[in-house]
Amino acid sequence: MFRLFSVYPNNLKSMKIFCVGRNYAEHANELNNEIPSEPVIFLKPKSALIQPGVHFYYPEFSNELHYEAELVLRISKNGKYVPAYAASGYYNAITVGIDFTARDIQQELKKKGLPWEKAKAWDNSALAGEWIETTPAMIKKPIHFSMQLNGETVQTGDSSNMLFSFEKIIANITQYFSINIGDLIFTGTPAGVGECVVGDELTGFFENKQVFALTVK
Ligand code: ZN
Repeated sequence: MFRLFSVYPNNLKSMKIFCVGRNYAEHANELNNEIPSEPVIFLKPKSALIQPGVHFYYPEFSNELHYEAELVLRISKNGKYVPAYAASGYYNAITVGIDFTARDIQQELKKKGLPWEKAKAWDNSALAGEWIETTPAMIKKPIHFSMQLNGETVQTGDSSNMLFSFEKIIANITQYFSINIGDLIFTGTPAGVGECVVGDELTGFFENKQVFALTVK
């Protein structure tokens, strides 16, 4: 069961979920990926977002389900060609989420040079925790987050270690895509990604505040 402490209304007619790949050097290294010179962007459909109160089931097509804990931004203003210096005005909430990945499928697709959707964009492959409203002071400082697997910390991240800042990510995305109110941006995972199995309990923390708890069924 995915338990949320506040419900994000997912009744928006359309919504895009942007994800950044390889945004922390240590994570790129652990998967033997190159350090990118510009953000690696992929999308998940709206149907990927786990709704509070539903069970999260281990996907039947994978034998290697990985968690990727990430900071997630919620877009608050429509935009295109947003310059980095103005980008902080385009989101107003942040949380910790999980970019669930069928790593076995992804490795196969990567080998063949094929798109990642079957590994990354399936139903319920994106979790966003309780939203925290951002303040100018909050986003000026490094943001710390972490995830626990069965009560043990497995990933810790710090926004100051991101290769591309929130602002640079938004500037890059909006060169290609419009962003709209309610869109989400998963900003990449730090090192420490790993496997989860049926029965595991995942809990996410924004600074010291718990923002989600999920059990793999
Ligand atoms: Zn990710």
